Amino acid sequence: MNENKKKFICIRCGCCCKAVGHTEEDKFLDNGNGVCKYYNDQKRECIIYDFRPEICRVDKMYKRFKDKMTWDEYVDLTYESCEKLRQLDKEGKLGKIIN
Ligand code: SF4
Ligand code: SF4
Repeated sequence: MNENKKKFICIRCGCCCKAVGHTEEDKFLDNGNGVCKYYNDQKRECIIYDFRPEICRVDKMYKRFKDKMTWDEYVDLTYESCEKLRQLDKEGKLGKIIN
């Protein structure tokens, strides 16, 4: 029985790309102000999308959580995280775009 029912749909708000550098793992992405050096804010896209690191890939990151939750729960949690990031963005609390 396949439990993987939900599909994660990214609406390309770009908020997760403006919230990097808080962990050792994504420090290398930080352009110095919390925004990813590979994020193009005008186009709202990742300029290395096809080659983006695992930490940016919702599907691949599931392997880190699969013992703790189902795929559907993981997708729901990810949507919640996206929403929280959008709220922080509205409050001006995410990284500032320089370009
Ligand atoms: S915060 Fe979520 S919806 Fe927005 S770009 Fe990132 S993954 Fe996509
Ligand atoms: S590498 Fe791409 S997907 Fe990952 S944070 Fe940077 S701009 Fe976003």
